[in-house]
Amino acid sequence: MTNAMELYQMLPKTNCKKCGKTSCMAFAVALMAHELTPEDCPPLKEEPKYKENYEKISGLFKPSEGATETGLIVHEDLCFGCGNCVVACPPNVANDPYGVGSGNAPTNPNKLVLTVEDGVVKAQNLGECRRFGKNKILCNGCIVTCPVEAIEFV
Ligand code: SF4
Ligand code: SF4
Ligand code: SF4
Repeated sequence: MTNAMELYQMLPKTNCKKCGKTSCMAFAVALMAHELTPEDCPPLKEEPKYKENYEKISGLFKPSEGATETGLIVHEDLCFGCGNCVVACPPNVANDPYGVGSGNAPTNPNKLVLTVEDGVVKAQNLGECRRFGKNKILCNGCIVTCPVEAIEFV
């Protein structure tokens, strides 16, 4: 992922405020925070001279289209279904203490945040993820236990 300064360099840098932000730098920061999208900058989106940069920025944010409410992305091409993240996820353990919480098969997969289906991890019930919502905490149980970096938060 890029940073706000790199994004800023690709913006029109006119501080026209059409995006609702006070400056292009503020817009870049909002992009990084996923509060706004590249389409929210009308000049960038509409003016031919910015076409190349618009496509470049949109490309940078493309992976996050698949992101969940928490910013979680699963790289399905990397995941090989080992289940480490399923067992390491605190809400999974709390919600299924005798299943994945005890190192066994899930007793109730519907209550889990991370499950493995057809050999690939699947995220669901994101409201239960510790990163969800205003009071999110930077839990990283799933990230650090994945041997192949198949889980990312953007
Ligand atoms: S609309 Fe685009 S050019 Fe105008 S301030 Fe926002 S980011 Fe900058
Ligand atoms: S961030 Fe924490 S709570 Fe959320 S899915 Fe990963 S391990 Fe589970
Ligand atoms: S995301 Fe990583 S830890 Fe989770 S099942 Fe896939 S390979 Fe294993």
